[in-house]
Amino acid sequence: MGKLIDLISRLKENRYLEPEEFVTLLNGLEENPEDASFLQHEARETALHHFGKDIYIRGLIEFTNFCRNDCFYCGIRKSNLNAVRYHLSKSTILECCRIGYDLGFRTFVLQGGEDMSYTDHAMTDIIASIRRAYPDCAITLSVGEREKATYQEWFDAGANRYLLRHETADPEHYRKLHPMRLRSEHRMQCLRDLKSIGYQTGTGFMVGSPFQTTEHLAKDLQFIHKFEPEMIGIGPFLPHSETPFKNCAPGSMQRTLHLISILRLMRPNALIPSTTALGTIHPEGRELGILAGANVVMPNLSPLDVRKNYLLYDNKICTGEEAAESIDKLKERICRIGYRIVTDRGDYKKGDV
Ligand code: SAH
Repeated sequence: MGKLIDLISRLKENRYLEPEEFVTLLNGLEENPEDASFLQHEARETALHHFGKDIYIRGLIEFTNFCRNDCFYCGIRKSNLNAVRYHLSKSTILECCRIGYDLGFRTFVLQGGEDMSYTDHAMTDIIASIRRAYPDCAITLSVGEREKATYQEWFDAGANRYLLRHETADPEHYRKLHPMRLRSEHRMQCLRDLKSIGYQTGTGFMVGSPFQTTEHLAKDLQFIHKFEPEMIGIGPFLPHSETPFKNCAPGSMQRTLHLISILRLMRPNALIPSTTALGTIHPEGRELGILAGANVVMPNLSPLDVRKNYLLYDNKICTGEEAAESIDKLKERICRIGYRIVTDRGDYKKGDV
């Protein structure tokens, strides 16, 4: 048996490889498309076994692009003085949920920069209002690093899930992507806090971020193996013209697809989105992500007039479409590759692996 085939088979069986083996696999896949097809096939079969042809949808509400942070890769970093800043009121957020609910969404994802004008209690009030209006829906938060007590308060108010990508599991690499104030250790602590409170917790990283090596990616996979997140979001790094990384090369789509497949074999029942960044780097990126083992898509529910302002990277797709239009197009695309979008909260299911 070929060396890569052997590694893929062992990955499938043990759900893990040693970091050096991940490096061999990731580098080998770049040069061996047949082995990459085998990996993809195994990952797709695994996803089919657990989820069938069902693809879950999450309604993404990008409710603020104000941010106190200055991450070097991100278009809404506070030093980008050309960003047109906005934040949505509670009633606008609830209106996005209403439109989303009518379109069949049963998960709302509130994502934004670290905008402290939403105090802990203001967020609690928003979460509690959504919870009251939509008792059958999941509420996912993605608003960065806060205190454990705050995460607890939001959980008690009705939030169920939290997305906080670890970005890179290598502290030195982390320092090259973020200002000094931000610490990899603190982000990891937030992730542990979220999990211990009872959130379904999502983490992840960018593929091909500046200075990233294959060894760093092996560390990311090792971290995910140990942390056992319920959700894993990855996408290619894409440059934004108003950031220090504006001249850096984008991440590789193929490598992102390889990693989606590896993650599917590591965490067979995890919720893995085919991300907007993947759809941005290639016209069929989101379909390819699903065919590589992803099982979630996150269409945008943000009001049309603010969408073009929530730009983490250049050329982001779907900034000019109404929510209904986005979801219709997406349904058609997913259908064309033989899958279907379902109206379901799509919670993480323990066991059953
Ligand atoms: N403030 C929240 C949400 C961040 S935006 C938080 O701190 O978690 C969500 C994700 O978008 C980030 O975690 C990052 O991985 C990704 N992202 C940011 N800038 C990007 C870029 N230029 N290219 C690709 N992905 C990017």
